[in-house]
Amino acid sequence: MTKFNFFDQQALAAPELSPAAAENLVRERYGIDGTATELGSQQDANFRIESAAATFVLKVSNPAFTADDLDAQDRAAAHVARSAGILAPTAVEGHDGRTVQPVTVAGRSTVARLVTYLDGESLSAGEYLAPPVVAALGDLAGRTSLALATYAGPLPPRELQWDLRNAHDVVVRLAEFVSVPGGADAARDAAGRAADALATYAGRLPLQPVHGDLTADNVISVAGADGRRRPVGVIDFGDLMRSWGIAELAVTCSSLLPYSGSDPSVILPAIRAFHAVRPITDDELSALWPLVVLRAAALMVSGRHQASIDAANRYAVGNLDHEWRVFEAATALPIDVMTALVRSAIRPPVAPPVAAGRPVIAGHTLTVLDFSTTSPALHDGRFGHDEADLAAIAGLAYVPYLQPRLTRTRLNSAEPPATVGLGVELFAAEPVDLRAPWPGTVVLHDDAVALHGESRTLWLTGSLRDTVSGALQAGELLGHLLPGSARIQVSLLNARPPFFVPAAMADAWAQLCPDPTPLIAPDAPGGHPDGALPARRAGAFAPVQEHYFTEPPQIERGWRQHLFDVTGRSYLDMLNNVSILGHGHPRLADAIEQQWRLLNTNSRFHYGAVVEFAERLAALVPAPLDTVFLVNSGTEADDLALRLAWANTGRRDVLAVREAYHGWSDATDAVSTSVADNPNALDTRPAWVHTLDAPNAYRGRYRGAEAGRYAEDAVEAVRDLVAGGRPPAAFLCEPFYGNAGGMALPAGYLAAIYPAVRDAGGLCVADEVQVGYGRLGEHFWGFEQQGVVPDIVTVAKAMGNGHPLGAVLTTREIAAGYRSQGYFFSSAGGSPVSCVAGLTVLNVLRDEGLQDNARVVGAHLRARLLALADKHPIIGAVHGMGLYIGVELVRDRETLEPATEETAAICERLRELGIIMQPTSDRMCVLKIKPPLGITRADADFFADTLDRVLTEGW
Ligand code: PMP
Repeated sequence: MTKFNFFDQQALAAPELSPAAAENLVRERYGIDGTATELGSQQDANFRIESAAATFVLKVSNPAFTADDLDAQDRAAAHVARSAGILAPTAVEGHDGRTVQPVTVAGRSTVARLVTYLDGESLSAGEYLAPPVVAALGDLAGRTSLALATYAGPLPPRELQWDLRNAHDVVVRLAEFVSVPGGADAARDAAGRAADALATYAGRLPLQPVHGDLTADNVISVAGADGRRRPVGVIDFGDLMRSWGIAELAVTCSSLLPYSGSDPSVILPAIRAFHAVRPITDDELSALWPLVVLRAAALMVSGRHQASIDAANRYAVGNLDHEWRVFEAATALPIDVMTALVRSAIRPPVAPPVAAGRPVIAGHTLTVLDFSTTSPALHDGRFGHDEADLAAIAGLAYVPYLQPRLTRTRLNSAEPPATVGLGVELFAAEPVDLRAPWPGTVVLHDDAVALHGESRTLWLTGSLRDTVSGALQAGELLGHLLPGSARIQVSLLNARPPFFVPAAMADAWAQLCPDPTPLIAPDAPGGHPDGALPARRAGAFAPVQEHYFTEPPQIERGWRQHLFDVTGRSYLDMLNNVSILGHGHPRLADAIEQQWRLLNTNSRFHYGAVVEFAERLAALVPAPLDTVFLVNSGTEADDLALRLAWANTGRRDVLAVREAYHGWSDATDAVSTSVADNPNALDTRPAWVHTLDAPNAYRGRYRGAEAGRYAEDAVEAVRDLVAGGRPPAAFLCEPFYGNAGGMALPAGYLAAIYPAVRDAGGLCVADEVQVGYGRLGEHFWGFEQQGVVPDIVTVAKAMGNGHPLGAVLTTREIAAGYRSQGYFFSSAGGSPVSCVAGLTVLNVLRDEGLQDNARVVGAHLRARLLALADKHPIIGAVHGMGLYIGVELVRDRETLEPATEETAAICERLRELGIIMQPTSDRMCVLKIKPPLGITRADADFFADTLDRVLTEGW
């Protein structure tokens, strides 16, 4: 039998077979009664066959392929399944015992097979693949490759168009079928460049059997607990062949490129995971990206070719756009840059090269400009100013090579901004001479001057004058930099590189854009951001202090409701309830600084701030509350509230609500019942703590209209305590149910319980640490929403906008009851600096109308989220009011099964898209939305739009 050779074939149109004919065939040959549905294929006819017992796939091959080829494919699939534990289709024997059945379709002889159908969805079904899913795909490709390396069965030689050793020829032959303007040339160029880049390594690449089409399309996945698809199986061994082993990964990587919002670094987890299973050699690493380009080009031209010869093939025609996107993504960046990126996935970092040459500028003293996230020059939102404004100093200054610039950040953007300069930027107050660092030829472009030297080019852009052109010697005058700025970049590439790139791509680009600093400032220190910070944190900081996110960004600045990491990426902060005024508020910073310069002692001294602050706080609460204790945190405030209750009543027992958090000290931990905050909460509770049902009207024991019964039960519980001889010293409760997900308590809840507690001689404590201070919009305090006045109110968090500050507000009489404990003193509680911080927070809150903003923007945000709930079944409820909102995610709106893992994954995806969000509640299935109170309607829209995108595209 002659071997199949693509290059000898004219056309490989898929065989034409009706579903009815497919059903007949399956009945005749395999004795299976089933219903046939057409499945797409480039060159074969495939049907899904559903019978009463099982589901199969009938594959009627293109007549060009032989029975031996198909037999080999079945054996290889079985081998992969057996040795790698990967699901793969199994061939079913016909009546005659053969798996490969000769058939005649439209007068042509060919063969058919029936294989088992793998349950699940193609991995390509969603629009987004999260990094762990990409890694799982790389792992699957690695295991498949490892298994196929030991496949010892038959493998008839074939000359396939999908063999990447043939890809360049395929592109040359089929490029003419690309009708997109310029597309044919683009395909030829890209393939030519990739083939050149590959030439050095091609002869040294190991060969082995490969699946050859291990794309997301051909990987079967099942949804994991977090709702992300996990690859479990591989289908379609139709391109099985002997080829370069690394080609397997190249195909997989190319299929990952067009996913939504992806920059090319999205493929790195796949490469890392593949390498962990099946190590990648240096030659293979250099070959990988050229092979991705060749695959993308060959796939694109083949698709167009197939569509031209088989216009009725909906599968081939329908894929054209997708294949074009793969091609565009594969060719968007230079091969050398992508190879540097790919290398960074598995090899230690390489310092960028450094440019050498004669000085471009000489005889000047240069100042270094700092436009990075931590630069003091960018305080008070100055990063939003023009860079030239910021650089307006006398003399000559420069922004260093590879410094991620906060000045280039973009607020509320889903894409990481291009912040990193691949050269230096000069800012000059006086004209400066620029000289050629090496001999070369100067070419003047519209917006740039290029000095092409031997294997490197100097690029200059900016306010240049009198630039010369033509041949120059090193040291000769190139032109003048006028007062203004100029960018100086050195490139090893033929094409002109961008000056700014996103941080994720900077190190790869830097390999091709050497550091030009020695050309302008030979003695300047080098230096790179410290990448070892997470490890140092893990080494020195107690590990029980956890961190947000699996890949935590290093956030070093905040401004209003935005946070910035060291790459200059901005995040909308929808989480930080403490910073009610927003981050970096200049009024607060100035006030604290002034007070620090003046005095910071303690409240045993006599000074005005403590008096003024205490009076202001006392004025915020209704009578009879009039007396203030100042401490440093919510924990201390709640701890002190308990001690006041104990001291005043001479009792120990406390009634608290389940699923709440009140602090980490011994006493507050005892009354904290939230397993999300303390997994041991239920086992470690001392006998003096008595708990009430979580009054959750959404998913608790009583729901909806029934929720009034929580209060009835609570009153009953108070009576039981009294009857049992353990009347409560205190009833402690958040007046708006913050830790459970930001939901209101049932109407009348506290109004029913407070009198019962007081009748029993106990005190009612409202923990306003999270929900008070204007966040609810309509109300300054949570207890107002319940229409009650507590005996003791605890406050913290927002009070200091992040400065450690807490307070207990109570009556004169209850405060006096503390005498039996001795006196009360807290070294920093009520210090001059703390009091000034607290006063300033209150002033800004008032002057900027933040409570009202919480009401207005909160209502808008809530309405947007409720509209999303109509569209996305995973949103079970939208709780809360003002800017304390909880979006509860459920797997089923009837059972209310919490979508815990999904919520965590959604928060990770929101982070990638520029939003800081975390889960809360005992089930960790509520998005806790409690941003700084100054967020705008546009911020709320960015959040709602992004959440909509994530819930639509997948996470
Ligand atoms: N009470 C409530 C309701 C809280 O949410 C918290 C903190 N999450 C605390 C008390 C403890 O406050 P801190 O962390 O300031 O000690």
